[in-house]
Amino acid sequence: MSIHHVTAIAREPQRNLDFYAGTLGMRLVKLTVNYDDPGTYHLYYGDELGRPGSLLTFFPWTGGRPGRQGTGQVNGVGLAVPSVSLGFWIERLLSRGVKYEGPTRRFDEQVLAFADPDGLLLELIATPRLDAVDGWKDGPVPAEHAVRGVHAVTIWEDGDTGSADFLTRTMGFRAKDEMGNRLRFESGQEGPGAVVDLRRAPGFWRGTEGVGTVHHVAFRAADDGEQQARQEEVRRQGVGVTDVRDRTYFRSIYFREPGGVLFEVATDGPGFTLDESAAELGTTLVLPPRYESMRARLERALPALRLPGVEAMEG
Ligand code: ZN
Repeated sequence: MSIHHVTAIAREPQRNLDFYAGTLGMRLVKLTVNYDDPGTYHLYYGDELGRPGSLLTFFPWTGGRPGRQGTGQVNGVGLAVPSVSLGFWIERLLSRGVKYEGPTRRFDEQVLAFADPDGLLLELIATPRLDAVDGWKDGPVPAEHAVRGVHAVTIWEDGDTGSADFLTRTMGFRAKDEMGNRLRFESGQEGPGAVVDLRRAPGFWRGTEGVGTVHHVAFRAADDGEQQARQEEVRRQGVGVTDVRDRTYFRSIYFREPGGVLFEVATDGPGFTLDESAAELGTTLVLPPRYESMRARLERALPALRLPGVEAMEG
């Protein structure tokens, strides 16, 4: 099962929006609140429709503490760009003052590594694998060079904690390759999010959650039945797993893999056009029905946001 989305923690929502919707040219496909903490935003970025596999989402914790990158965490979210777009992206990062490292070769792909404004480790990975996926036509980055989706995540593991076994036995990944302390696993499915790398860092300090770190990574279930099967399989491995939670745009279960990373299994549907048309995605604050009665209060409390190049949005 490939990656559905990655969720990370930011500090200032406007700065996050400027970076992801501006510099990286991803589409804000949903502006809503954190369902578990409705006084804060949940920002979803993705492709034109926010398809599973294209999604990178953020909880902005205004005034939150920085996290620490270490083991038991996802450190390195790889976004796919077309293999011919490496030069375009080097120029774009340079012109916007984003310091990057690379390009370096990883297996058969070229990687540009940099950090977002909160220190989250990101990579642009030039890969021919998603050439069949269209780029967003109406974004600030020309469609031919646009980010195609999440390509890979890198999990830092303290030695062999059992993550590799869990990925193959429970999550349906296959061990594919090895390069130094990096083990590569693949879902074997077409499309985005098919790659998980394990980076073994024995003795390295443990990561702590906070601003600039990944909160969790979600994997795709085609439907409720597949999700339930995965829930049972996780339980059979003796790992605690939550009940199904309704996230409006998908349904989710959560559990921790043996190395400590929070995993989610999210359904492909119903998707982001459930409550907004494709043209309107991300243009206004959308609340789940249970928070509608709190709208006026939430809108007063949440900082107003402005999409890069657009006037202020409600919020
Ligand atoms: Zn999630």
